[in-house]
Amino acid sequence: MCNCILLGPPGAGKGTQAKILTKRFGIPQISTGDILRAAVKEQTPMGIQAKKFMDEGALVPDSVVIGIVEERLVKPDCSSGFILDGFPRNVEQADALKQVLLRTGKSIEHVISISVDKEELLSRITGRRTCRSCGKGYHIAFDPPEVPDRCGECGGELYQRDDDREETIRKRLEVYEEQTAPLITYYGQESLLRNVQGTGSIEDIQSEIVGIVEGKGRNT
Ligand code: ADP
Ligand code: ADP
Ligand code: ZN
Repeated sequence: MCNCILLGPPGAGKGTQAKILTKRFGIPQISTGDILRAAVKEQTPMGIQAKKFMDEGALVPDSVVIGIVEERLVKPDCSSGFILDGFPRNVEQADALKQVLLRTGKSIEHVISISVDKEELLSRITGRRTCRSCGKGYHIAFDPPEVPDRCGECGGELYQRDDDREETIRKRLEVYEEQTAPLITYYGQESLLRNVQGTGSIEDIQSEIVGIVEGKGRNT
């Protein structure tokens, strides 16, 4: 069983690592960002409401994202584990998650905090490309597709997210520092926190996370 949270700034590699963990352990990735982007694309009422916050690099209101996670966590595929990617993002969301878990008889086993310095985050985010069809992530320099602009998994078209532009990125990094970084202390106090250095190869970082999930050794 692996109920875990991937915590880290935009560009830390949460989505990349979550997608590999999903395949490896057969448990779902719950990415509030992916769910919100799908709602924006489909122009659902939630998507229309969320879009203005996302375009500014601000957080979407707590009630919206908490609702998303609450609905998702009760689905049967979460019964043998789940990976929360990009949620919670502030203390209010973390408190709400606790309540949802209590009500559903679940608990979090690991909060994996991935750290990467700011320069590296900026180059990762500006070079990030995502497959329109299957959502797989690439980087134009660090993890390029074999055929330019084409997904190696499904042949889909790669695109750059609207909010991956420089001005919005700075705002998102500020929001992370102000609202999300306090969760490192929050989960540290609950002894759930494990720190992972997010620089190095995607494979090496994956091995470290797998070690944590499989309960091998304890560091900080
Ligand atoms: P990244 O992977 O770069 O950190 P995400 O895909 O997680 O970005 O999030 C993109 C945007 O979606 C955020 O800037 C925010 O507007 C919105 N969002 C995603 N998750 C949350 C959340 N838990 N709470 C509020 N807003 C969220
Ligand atoms: P997050 O979900 O935390 O915002 P992503 O997983 O989308 O981050 O990664 C951001 C960008 O950095 C992507 O373009 C991805 O291909 C790239 N990336 C992820 N992990 C690494 C790594 N270990 N080294 C270099 N680039 C990476
Ligand atoms: Zn694809």
